[in-house]
Amino acid sequence: MSENVIVVEHPLILHKLTLMRRKETSTANFRRLLKEIGVLLAYEVTRDLPLDLIPVETPLAKIMAPMISSKKLCLVSILRAGNGLLDGMLDIVPSARVGHIGLYRDPTTLEAIEYYFKVPEDIAERLAIVLDPMLATGHSAIAAIDQLKAHGAVRMKYVSLLAAPEGIAALHSVHPEVTIYTAAIDERLNDHGYIVPGLGDAGDRLFGTK
Ligand code: URA
Repeated sequence: MSENVIVVEHPLILHKLTLMRRKETSTANFRRLLKEIGVLLAYEVTRDLPLDLIPVETPLAKIMAPMISSKKLCLVSILRAGNGLLDGMLDIVPSARVGHIGLYRDPTTLEAIEYYFKVPEDIAERLAIVLDPMLATGHSAIAAIDQLKAHGAVRMKYVSLLAAPEGIAALHSVHPEVTIYTAAIDERLNDHGYIVPGLGDAGDRLFGTK
């Protein structure tokens, strides 16, 4: 497996992921669990944010205490399932800016077709954390990062809930510098580009559209 992949195997995440995989899990529970995992993945993906020491006066003393430095973040949700992770991430980094990239999969070729792109104008100065629960073929991930680079982004991380080996290899064949965070690497893709065993269509399960 590629070096630039971090599998976040925290017991809370793995437990919640197992609940999400169950086909009988309701839309409401699926959404809540994805949001909760978003919080936990945010904790990991922000682990190396730089800190500055700033002067603070407690009721007892003056000290220099750490605060996240003014280096800026942008959470970039790949529509529509990325929004499920975004909600949890925003809970613990509420001041992050948010970008959206709308992509759908051509059902025949599985290629990613863009229908929407909106990110902050100063994306070049921000760490872009790209969110999509399912890293399957990697086509959407590659298209999203291609577009972010075309708009000036230079620092990017990619956060998924589940990844297929094929998706990791595809993304890193084009953008090897992008660290991938995921809760699990599943076995393979099926002929329709779905992750097996996976959890089905994340967007449909999140929004109850099927
Ligand atoms: N997108 C999904 O929602 N599920 C998969 O298994 C693959 C892509």
